[in-house]
Amino acid sequence: MHRFEYFAPESLDEAITLLKEHGDGVKLLAGGTDLLVQMKEAGLHPAAVVSLHALTELRGLEFDEADGLHVGAATDMATIEAFAVVRERFAALADGAGVLGSVQTRNMATLGGNIANAAPSADTAPPLVVLDAIAEIAGPDGSRRLPVGEIFAGPGTSTLAPDEILVGFHLPTPPARTGSVYQRHTPRKIMDIAVVGVAVQLTLATDADTIREARICLGAVAPTVIRAREAEEALTDHEASDELFAQAAEMAQAAASPISDVRGSAEFRRYLAGVMTKRCLGIALERAKGA
Ligand SMILES: Cc1cc2nc3c(=O)[nH]c(=O)nc-3n(C[C@H](O)[C@H](O)[C@H](O)COP(=O)(O)OP(=O)(O)OC[C@H]3O[C@@H](n4cnc5c(N)ncnc54)[C@H](O)[C@@H]3O)c2cc1C
Repeated sequence: MHRFEYFAPESLDEAITLLKEHGDGVKLLAGGTDLLVQMKEAGLHPAAVVSLHALTELRGLEFDEADGLHVGAATDMATIEAFAVVRERFAALADGAGVLGSVQTRNMATLGGNIANAAPSADTAPPLVVLDAIAEIAGPDGSRRLPVGEIFAGPGTSTLAPDEILVGFHLPTPPARTGSVYQRHTPRKIMDIAVVGVAVQLTLATDADTIREARICLGAVAPTVIRAREAEEALTDHEASDELFAQAAEMAQAAASPISDVRGSAEFRRYLAGVMTKRCLGIALERAKGA
């Protein structure tokens, strides 16, 4: 590994100042599970590394029925998956955090790191998108808020400026009779990257199985995570049924534009996008009925 300067700021302002001072040659360090691998094996040589470790305000979860869920960007996956409200009300996020890497990885890997790294296969990205999460971002000119899907610009490329820090994520409280799910396909059962990841959130009418709102987000089938909007529209205001889910799954499949790589061919990925969307619609429906 090349030599680099290491900073451990004790406040957000100090961290932002350090980022501004070091320009393009600086990288933030959260759990390090992407960054250190990239520095050791992928030719990334930052001149300076700024650790988020001492910024305790970036860690933890808070839930309020009226305000929704706040997740600090430096909160690790194990903490997120174990948080009862996340499991009960934001199940897709618990699913995503729960499948990422291994126990050891989940104890280090943070939500902010997973999103800022901007891999199209990031396991928490489709869940955050269907849960309508807004990223809270701090920079030298103040703070701004951005829907999570808009952080993804291309494989490994985000819309965050080098001197911006993801501070946290805000997730609105889902309405009653809402269910969400995230599933991924990997060649190996654990410790593998998604060949396809699918998240779905469905909100049902209060007195029937009519779908009031549907959100579908696909991972690893395009340069960024993508919404399957045509499929969402086809579901909205219709009675949930196998036929409707099959039709929506076909539309989601058509929205995918995957590449072939060592994990799977483009054709296999496109096929999986359809199969998994249909499966996730069924699970989200069951969860919505139980909510
Ligand atoms: C063995 C192993 C298995 C893995 N398995 C999976 C998997 O199954 N699914 C999956 O999605 N990923 C997987 N990963 C990738 C990685 O664990 C995740 O992407 C993780 O969430 C990254 O978080 P981190 O805190 O470790 O980020 P870091 O490595 O610390 O940072 C990642 C990037 O994000 C930037 N960054 C970090 N925090 C912030 C912030 N708050 N604001 C702005 N920028 C920030 C960093 O500068 C860096 O560019 C795996 C990695 C390893 C080593």
